[in-house]
Amino acid sequence: MIGGGASGLGAAIDAAARGHRVALFEQADFAKGTSSRSTKLVHGGVRYLQQGNVSLVLEALRERGRLAANAPHLVHAQSFVIPNYAWWEGPFYGIGMKVYDRLAGKLGLAPSRHLNIDETLEAIPTIEQAKLLGGVIYQDGQFDDARLAINLAQTAESLGAIVLNYTRCRNLVKEKGLVSGVEIEDLESGQTFTVRAKAVINATGVFADSLRQMDNPQAGSIIAASQGIHIVIPRHFLPGEAAIMIPKTEDGRVLFAVPWHDHVVVGTTDTPVASAKLEPRALREEREFVMTHACKYLNHNPQPEDVCSIFAGLRPLVRPDNSSGNTAALSRDHSIIVSQSGLITLTGGKWTTYRKMAEDVIDQAETLAGLEHQPCPTVNLQIRGWTHEPIKAKNLQIYGSDAREIENLIKITPALAEKIHPDLPYQKAEVFWHAQEEMARTVEDVLARRTRALFLNARASMEAAPLVASILAKVFSRDSDWQKKQVEAYLDLAEGYDFLSSKSVGN
Ligand SMILES: Cc1cc2nc3c(=O)[nH]c(=O)nc-3n(C[C@H](O)[C@H](O)[C@H](O)COP(=O)(O)OP(=O)(O)OC[C@H]3O[C@@H](n4cnc5c(N)ncnc54)[C@H](O)[C@@H]3O)c2cc1C
Repeated sequence: MIGGGASGLGAAIDAAARGHRVALFEQADFAKGTSSRSTKLVHGGVRYLQQGNVSLVLEALRERGRLAANAPHLVHAQSFVIPNYAWWEGPFYGIGMKVYDRLAGKLGLAPSRHLNIDETLEAIPTIEQAKLLGGVIYQDGQFDDARLAINLAQTAESLGAIVLNYTRCRNLVKEKGLVSGVEIEDLESGQTFTVRAKAVINATGVFADSLRQMDNPQAGSIIAASQGIHIVIPRHFLPGEAAIMIPKTEDGRVLFAVPWHDHVVVGTTDTPVASAKLEPRALREEREFVMTHACKYLNHNPQPEDVCSIFAGLRPLVRPDNSSGNTAALSRDHSIIVSQSGLITLTGGKWTTYRKMAEDVIDQAETLAGLEHQPCPTVNLQIRGWTHEPIKAKNLQIYGSDAREIENLIKITPALAEKIHPDLPYQKAEVFWHAQEEMARTVEDVLARRTRALFLNARASMEAAPLVASILAKVFSRDSDWQKKQVEAYLDLAEGYDFLSSKSVGN
């Protein structure tokens, strides 16, 4: 398995759970790519319903229910309000959401319903009131994307898979024209090694073309990367329980404002981009679009200095042969493409459907590799951290059943209860846990994906970096030079998430 995002991690779990021998290699950290940069929704996709893609919505709603059951510590029901400002919006979206309810069937979270003006204001006290006529409320799911990726990596390991971050696939190994393995570089030691495999799965997201071209330099491009950006603002801009969903802005885009970890995530955009980058940056017009619309729908206008973080991600959409260049119209379905050499590429899709994508690709891999077909056991497979037990400490809730272990660390060493920064909820004990149990290797791994500090408060996360580096240095027996380099690298990266920094603007 090449790639440690939602697609690769899901496939590693699926194959390992069926009893196959599996190794996964990720060139950076798990979820470093698109899988930490989503809108954080586990959803059927109301907009795909608008596009008439009923089968995609149906599959996603089914998977939404399964994911909520298998990772209840990370997936929560979230109510969304579509505010209505024109007379036709109430009946139009009301009927649309009833179809959504119907498709969800037994896996539905709660039925949608109309809200009058007072009910709309109760659900979203800060919604723009001028010309407001009412709203439609419906339920979907919300999650922490990078935390789920970490727990998936741990789940795969517990099933016997080898799962390594900071290992890059440099080349494919072939015998008689067929892929028979991969050449891997360990980016920490610089060593390279070869791994033989009966099947190689390319789950590298927007980088899928580069692996396909390692296989065949003449292979055409199949990926049409589409950038989506988000800003994160303080919770007081959207203090109620409900999120806002705008199905169609005046320029035809979908906009969400969703409460997340005591903040609000606002986005997104759909901008075709020419090249794939691990650290994409928001374009000036994307920043303006999201800021303008946040101001349009919230009665207190967020100012640039209110923005806690800005982040961009690239959708690995599959290019149809006659692509018009408009990525918003490209399918969000997943694709499995088998090259002549037997290289299997899994791409497209979305976080919500990662489990089904994995099931489909492993079915395909078994056939290609001539392995006996094993039934897929992941429909009810609990993901690491699974628990329904209430966890008191808010910052530990994302760890699910592992929260107890972190509390134990604090019991043994009470100093580990200290926070890593006054404006961040995270404790020192968590950083030890990330290094010892969650495969964190760098300051960025801790602040971007084990905690979500970078995404919630970029400036505070920069101030916390030296302390995090010192804890990691203790665990990994590293010297002060290592710490200094770690902090420098982190500050350089985090400036790209600081809305006020020129480094956060792409071109
Ligand atoms: C703005 C935006 C919002 C979204 N919102 C939602 C949402 O709310 N809900 C939802 O369900 N979905 C959402 N999605 C879709 C979802 O995030 C993606 O479909 C999913 O994360 C893609 O995962 P992936 O594993 O295919 O790609 P990635 O997460 O990008 O993983 C690919 C990995 O491959 C690694 N890699 C590349 N080359 C190599 C190599 N040579 N060797 C080793 N490793 C390599 C990369 O480092 C990367 O980590 C959103 C996407 C975007 C962009």
